[in-house]
Amino acid sequence: MHIEQKTFIAVKPDGVRRGLVGEIISRFERKGYKLIAMKMLDVTREQAAKHYEEHKGKPFYERLIEYIQSGPIVAMVWKGYNVIEGARQLMGVTNPLDAQVGTIRADFALVKEYNVIHGSDSPESAEREIAIYFSPDELCDEYENMAEIVIEKLDE
Ligand code: UDP
Ligand code: MG
Repeated sequence: MHIEQKTFIAVKPDGVRRGLVGEIISRFERKGYKLIAMKMLDVTREQAAKHYEEHKGKPFYERLIEYIQSGPIVAMVWKGYNVIEGARQLMGVTNPLDAQVGTIRADFALVKEYNVIHGSDSPESAEREIAIYFSPDELCDEYENMAEIVIEKLDE
């Protein structure tokens, strides 16, 4: 079955500061995912609280809210076949020490508190998180990327 999904990806403030935006975008592009929205922004307290509401009350919560607001993030929406799970694979697991070598977190981060990238973990989270950072008219959902054009041509 063809599963075309959207997911919310953010380069967190440490990733931006360290100049990893291009590297991260490049990995998603090379994989074959399609960028349909992107902006740099300072996360507000309200956005941070909504984004991480599932973690409220956990020992790392306050520091997490501080971290995500410690500098601008680059917020993005990526589209593609099974992109939610695929993006999580590219990212690696939360703790860079447990992440597979070759993943973004294993390759570029030392500790789970500063792990460079966020990605939605389910279709429900993706929809919810995209809505925190983007309005529907900000999603460039219509254009065709090269892969889609090629596939269409082959079908003709
Ligand atoms: N986090 C942390 N300490 C922990 C667990 C998580 O600082 O023990 C932070 C970390 O930045 C992580 C974020 O909280 O990316 C959200 O946690 P989650 O378990 O949702 O991990 P993710 O989905 O980002 O892999
Ligand atoms: Mg999560």
